[in-house]
Amino acid sequence: KRLVILGGGESGVGTAILGKKKGYEVFVSDFGKIKDNYKEVLALNKLEWEEERHTEEKILNADVVMKSPGIPDKSPIVKLLIEKGIPVISEIEFAYAFIDVPTIGITGSNGKTTTTMLTHHLIRQGGLNMGLAGNIGKSFAWQVAEGKHEGYVLEISSFQLDGIEKYRPHIAVLTNISPDHLDRYEYNYELYIDSKFRITMNQAEDDFFIYDADDVMIAKWIDNNKMRATPIPFSLTKTLKKGIYIKDNTIISTITNEEFTMPINELSLEGKHNVKNAMAATAVAQLMKIRKETIRESLSNFQGVEHRLEKVLKIQNVQYINDSKATNTNATFFALESMTAPTIWIVGGVDKGNDYDELMPLVREKVKAIVCLGIDNEKIINAFGNVIDVMVETTSMAEAVKTAQKLAEKGDVVLLSPACASFDLFENYEDRGKQFKAAVQNL
Ligand code: ADP
Repeated sequence: KRLVILGGGESGVGTAILGKKKGYEVFVSDFGKIKDNYKEVLALNKLEWEEERHTEEKILNADVVMKSPGIPDKSPIVKLLIEKGIPVISEIEFAYAFIDVPTIGITGSNGKTTTTMLTHHLIRQGGLNMGLAGNIGKSFAWQVAEGKHEGYVLEISSFQLDGIEKYRPHIAVLTNISPDHLDRYEYNYELYIDSKFRITMNQAEDDFFIYDADDVMIAKWIDNNKMRATPIPFSLTKTLKKGIYIKDNTIISTITNEEFTMPINELSLEGKHNVKNAMAATAVAQLMKIRKETIRESLSNFQGVEHRLEKVLKIQNVQYINDSKATNTNATFFALESMTAPTIWIVGGVDKGNDYDELMPLVREKVKAIVCLGIDNEKIINAFGNVIDVMVETTSMAEAVKTAQKLAEKGDVVLLSPACASFDLFENYEDRGKQFKAAVQNL
């Protein structure tokens, strides 16, 4: 069978290796340039590839096509494939066909990476040798080819979910839903929501679906649709008969016969959103039969994830925090909410259709000055000009951090939480976060 792979990045190269191992004739085609380290891997594995073009004769000859999540359905080559009726699937779908170990699939608009890494940490501390993959680190397909794990914890984006047919996670987690990436869903929020719920479409009664019961979009979907998996809700606000909730500042889980408790102040991660992430991860760990003591200990020693409310340095009693991964207003909402000191807020970048109104009460309460960092700051200035007296526009990270330092007084916080994508001034959010940390080190 002929397997064509569109995109020669981490998931593409991983799929190529797995495909070859399983006896496919493999061809990798990338419309851009393939990174040198991946070219070396392709050469080493004697895989055929091309870059800076899509040769139609070869691509349309495929029995199955794996499309990297970054390539939109609208792109001409994908349209052609769909017209011809050639199946176009995601890496998750392709690799899933070759495993018989359980997977935990974690999706949502925000909190995927944190919840995935925390869940994996809990499970590994509990002694299970599960791999960590999806949008993180070495690709799922690549790890399946290596075949070393007794299961996988997968971070799954909506783009990956769009390309699944049979993928059935034993445990699915839906962290939350808020508008994001709508450009890829015809600006139709319903389509994006449906895409997130594909995570559960193949599940059966002996599978589990863990979700945020406080999320109105999720609650509405569950009311209106049939779901076969056993639902496991978590909530910050409601007491649940069978679920995970808060009482007296303690996380309580009643999902198994034995009640589990964990005081919130013993969690290593701060912020309400991280309490939710911890609840979701705890539910998974319990379902995977990890001991209560191990779960508690692991929740309190988890180191956190780079670029997510990452404490960088304290200089002259001003705390600098890197939340570069906040690329939408919902993520920034939780960052601002968790601030306990007057905040100099560095915000801006490429606007993804942001509605800043939802941040207004928090900005009034917590923010004393705004440093705009982006090519086009007009929307931010219009949104907050009336409530914040000090607003400064900057065009580089070094300038933004220096400006923030000048504005900050002892006891304040400088928070980079852009609420925007990074592509105007940076390569990606990691580059933005790294530049922030370097600029802070240079102060
Ligand atoms: P994702 O992988 O879904 O982008 P991350 O864990 O990388 O999620 O976090 C992205 C941003 O969202 C960070 O700024 C983080 O602080 C914030 N965040 C993390 N968990 C949540 C949550 N449960 N709800 C809202 N925001 C969150």
